[in-house]
Amino acid sequence: MLKMKDILDEKDKTLRQISEEVSFPLSKEDIDNINLMEEYLVNSQIEEKAIKYDLRPGMGMSAIQIGVPKRYIVIVNEIEEGFESYIVINPKITSNSAEMIYVEDGEGCLSVNRDVEGIVPRYARVTVEGFDIDGNKIKIRAREEIAIAFQHELDHLNGILFYDRIDKKDPFKNKDLYRSI
Ligand code: ZN
Repeated sequence: MLKMKDILDEKDKTLRQISEEVSFPLSKEDIDNINLMEEYLVNSQIEEKAIKYDLRPGMGMSAIQIGVPKRYIVIVNEIEEGFESYIVINPKITSNSAEMIYVEDGEGCLSVNRDVEGIVPRYARVTVEGFDIDGNKIKIRAREEIAIAFQHELDHLNGILFYDRIDKKDPFKNKDLYRSI
């Protein structure tokens, strides 16, 4: 089971690496990592487990955040019936909306244990293509919060942290050009 200490902190230079594409079949280690990442994200969103295991809540994680420089990500979203998971290997954004949005309260990241103010412009809708755990091609159309999560996690695979996208001199620059969610 992953704990907070297993997740790299923003100060760790490893997070700045560009992750490598993965080939199929996945290794047992990669499958284990994916399962651990998913388990962490689900548990972190269940209050009593988050408290019991001291997990900071998160909805997305990329492999590099546990020190594995490979291109796979997991996103877990709470829905009425429980949780839905998106597991994508070698993800790519293949199309995006013109409309841009941002998280009103600021984006969060399991590797950034502090509040960072400012606008992180993101596409409102994206199409993500990649592969599932068995190597089947998949295509996901994501919008709003999930679209942001995909963009955030894809950035990690390229060594980018969300605050890199905030204007340093004017964190709320061009606020009116984007819709807040
Ligand atoms: Zn993050």
